[in-house]
Amino acid sequence: MVYTSTRDNTVRVDSATAIMRGISPDGGLYVPVELPKLSYSELCSMVSADYQHRAVDILGRFLTDFTDEELSECVKAAYEDKFGSDTVAPVASINDGRYILELWHGPTCAFKDMALQLLPHLLTRSVKKCGDDHEIVILVATSGDTGKAALEGFADVPGTRIIVFYPDEGVSNIQKLQMTTQEGDNVGVCAVWGNFDDAQTGVKMIFTNDEVKAQLEKNGMAFSSANSINWGRLVPQIVYYFSAYLDLMQTGEMDYEGEEINIAVPTGNFGNILAAFYAKMMGLPVKKLICASNANNVLTEFLTTGVYDRNRKFHTTMSPSMDILISSNLERLLFHLTDGDSARVKGWMEQLSATGRYEVDDDVKQKLFDLFWAGCCDDGETQAQIKELFDADGYLCDTHTAVGLHVYTQYRSATEDVKTPAVIASTASPYKFAPSVLGSFKEPDSARSEFENIDELSVLSSCPVPAPLAALESKSVRFDKVCKKEDMTKAVFDMLGIGN
Ligand SMILES: *Cc1c(COP(=O)(O)O)cnc(C)c1O
Repeated sequence: MVYTSTRDNTVRVDSATAIMRGISPDGGLYVPVELPKLSYSELCSMVSADYQHRAVDILGRFLTDFTDEELSECVKAAYEDKFGSDTVAPVASINDGRYILELWHGPTCAFKDMALQLLPHLLTRSVKKCGDDHEIVILVATSGDTGKAALEGFADVPGTRIIVFYPDEGVSNIQKLQMTTQEGDNVGVCAVWGNFDDAQTGVKMIFTNDEVKAQLEKNGMAFSSANSINWGRLVPQIVYYFSAYLDLMQTGEMDYEGEEINIAVPTGNFGNILAAFYAKMMGLPVKKLICASNANNVLTEFLTTGVYDRNRKFHTTMSPSMDILISSNLERLLFHLTDGDSARVKGWMEQLSATGRYEVDDDVKQKLFDLFWAGCCDDGETQAQIKELFDADGYLCDTHTAVGLHVYTQYRSATEDVKTPAVIASTASPYKFAPSVLGSFKEPDSARSEFENIDELSVLSSCPVPAPLAALESKSVRFDKVCKKEDMTKAVFDMLGIGN
């Protein structure tokens, strides 16, 4: 399997190089030149396999420079002990032919664990395969969820260090506590005075500073990135769409060749739904990919008109992990829908960075409309959906998942496609966003602590609080430093224990 770049289709690299580099030197994203295909008999042969074996099978078709043994080790390290469900990504059945694919049983109770538990193991092996022996230093600027998921993924993984910066005024109390109590000998966490942009800009400056790089080099270290455009974060996400379908075959819900499902995904950076697109292209029988957005509906507009325009108001919503105006992974979709026309993709991306807008050609529009259906909803509809599902089914979902469900319902009434079973990606535990979820049932009480909210939600739903969240209250804070934007480099050196 060879990989090329979305901005230069003459590039040829193997998967280890793609994962080690993260982004192609021409600024493009790495994509497989050809997609592996799975036949129905291959699907049937995987029905009785557990999640880990399914993962080794699917990953092996993409990461052909890894042996099965290496992949088994990586998958075991990622999914064996760290997930609160033996089946890793279980499928829950609700009414009306809807299935909830629960992607939040990992250590941070949100779906980014699915990829970030595996990435560190793929990355350390990739670096070795490329003949490099540096200790890898991961730097992350986070607005909440990604930083914690990266910390959990890299904690105590040999050959790596991880440092996370979060904005002092931009994360919830729970998110802050999740990060500042992080365990592990190779982790560092520091708050930055300011907002997310301040932290992000600071990290970018450190990444590209030659003096900092030289200082790391002197100490046998080198930077790498764990952000969502790394192929090593995308490929683990393809696995769970296959796994969900295999689960439905196992229970007899899917019982003939080519029987289709719809897949609805609450979307931000377009990574999770792109993985579903890859699964479809590989032969998983998917009718429509349903892209769900919150009030930040730039993707709804794009998938229904072919115009991408980020020049709009940014909304802060109850589904904050989808509050995004630039969906980086869309670039990969465009590459595939133009049959690898990197010159066209590059042109659109240059327009996007120059003007904030581009419009795809008619041939691409047609493919978008055939593959996708898109919709959006606001916070009121999100909360109404949470209550409605709980009242009807006793199933409690989080705000992001509710956006997916709401938009799926819109799809059913707009298209009258009511018979096709639907898999809705559930991207976070309801306890992770307890105040907003609780607010679906009663007036919020601002005097309450987040833990009181979580406990009340647990009483209301009679479901136990996930262990990692329950444990937070009694953990001690290890990282209480706040630094100025200008002092982030020094903070990095201090945490790495190297001179400056
Ligand atoms: C990151 C995230 C999303 C959005 O996923 P993308 O791959 O960026 O589209 C949705 N829900 C939750 C809870 C997330 O953390």
